[in-house]
Amino acid sequence: MQTRWDVIIVGGGAAGLWAAGTAAARGKQVLVLEKNNKAGVKILMSGGTRCNITHHCDSRKIAEAFGKNGRVLLSVLSRLSPQDVVRQIEQEGVATKVEETGKVFPASDRAIDVRDAIVRRLAREGASLVTGAAVQSVRPAAAGAGFEVVVQVQAQSAMNLTCDSVLLTTGGLSYSGCGTNGDGYPWAQGMGHTITSLRPALTPLLSHEAWVHELSGITLDDAEVTARVIGADAKLAKLERATSRGGLLWTHFGCSGPTAMNVSRCFSDLQSHSPASMLVDLLPDLSREACEQWLLDAAKESNRTITNVLSQRIPKRLASALVAIAGSTNDVHTSELSKKIRNSLVERLKALSVPIHGTRGYPKAEVTAGGVALGEVNFQDMQSRKTPGLFFAGEILDLDGPIGGFNFQAAWSTGHTAGLHV
Ligand SMILES: Cc1cc2nc3c(=O)[nH]c(=O)nc-3n(C[C@H](O)[C@H](O)[C@H](O)COP(=O)(O)OP(=O)(O)OC[C@H]3O[C@@H](n4cnc5c(N)ncnc54)[C@H](O)[C@@H]3O)c2cc1C
Repeated sequence: MQTRWDVIIVGGGAAGLWAAGTAAARGKQVLVLEKNNKAGVKILMSGGTRCNITHHCDSRKIAEAFGKNGRVLLSVLSRLSPQDVVRQIEQEGVATKVEETGKVFPASDRAIDVRDAIVRRLAREGASLVTGAAVQSVRPAAAGAGFEVVVQVQAQSAMNLTCDSVLLTTGGLSYSGCGTNGDGYPWAQGMGHTITSLRPALTPLLSHEAWVHELSGITLDDAEVTARVIGADAKLAKLERATSRGGLLWTHFGCSGPTAMNVSRCFSDLQSHSPASMLVDLLPDLSREACEQWLLDAAKESNRTITNVLSQRIPKRLASALVAIAGSTNDVHTSELSKKIRNSLVERLKALSVPIHGTRGYPKAEVTAGGVALGEVNFQDMQSRKTPGLFFAGEILDLDGPIGGFNFQAAWSTGHTAGLHV
């Protein structure tokens, strides 16, 4: 392997692979170093191996999904929008489709087609990709401009490489078995950067409650959940994106599915014994008043049990659990419902409190919240404001979005802008 390069990209994931194709198309000599024996491992496992490539929406909506940190994404999205991503992937021969939720997938439902398309582009533009190459250190060159990168390829002894620009795309800390151990953070710190508080995000929630575990297997297509933390960790409750609407899944350990995972960043830091819960609106299209009226109307049909009535709108096992939590029994007829129990049921239907004591953490987190502080990176070119020639893209940055293709879009777009400027 040659030891001198224009650009070395550390990490052959979504951001690094995209950046390599873009930089090589400008005539740069580009080397991508990837620790795993294959590139784009997270692309391969994403979206249940279907790869939710991006979201079918405009760039503004992508940026908004990242909360207030997302503002920085507007400039990189102006250079590579969700539509641009779809167009480029289709140009590589991979047809795409938009699902009802707005998620964009390859028409084949095969994540490998997406990974291969991006690697094909990179190779066609002339970038070099070396897998099984674990980078051990990245630092400014001792003499003059540029950087020194120490890498170990397979069982060979470590090599010293040099380059004019270095792009760190080492990802975050989640699913560390995929090679993402946070290697890039200390290198960034060593070159003057701040790493904001790191925590798992998009990870399932844990509940000790037996009644929650008993609901295991129930899926709701449309619920609205809100994270609620009281006491010493209450500041977490003020986090942005504490509310999410969509699918919710009950499991043997707690809750999962897009809504639970989207609000999980609020529960990741629970250290004290602050009471924490997730409030679930089981009927988000129905106001409290409409909900109460529904139960009052049902009371006129004297032969039906309350569980039976609730089962019109929510799964029967869940209906039965609600009746018990509200202080009634399954054999009670609607006409026999006291006002107190009816009010209690309305409260549970609109704001069912599910106690949460933590999350499944990094091993099951789809992304890492926190990372390289955004103010220290110029998003016009993705270059460090601390060390000229150092660039960042992807999850290593303090950016984490919801489920739906938003995180890949941020990786493709930041990678693309970096590739245009390295
Ligand atoms: C199970 C799962 C499903 C997901 N599904 C989706 C989805 O459908 N849609 C979506 O938008 N997002 C999804 N995500 C999130 C998405 O995968 C990430 O946002 C995205 O991969 C981030 O891209 P990246 O290039 O920054 O990091 P990564 O893709 O994680 O790539 C970082 C790469 O750097 C390499 N690396 C790290 N350290 C070194 C080193 N020292 N030397 C060499 N190489 C190194 C790693 O091996 C890794 O390959 C999912 C995540 C997971 C875990």
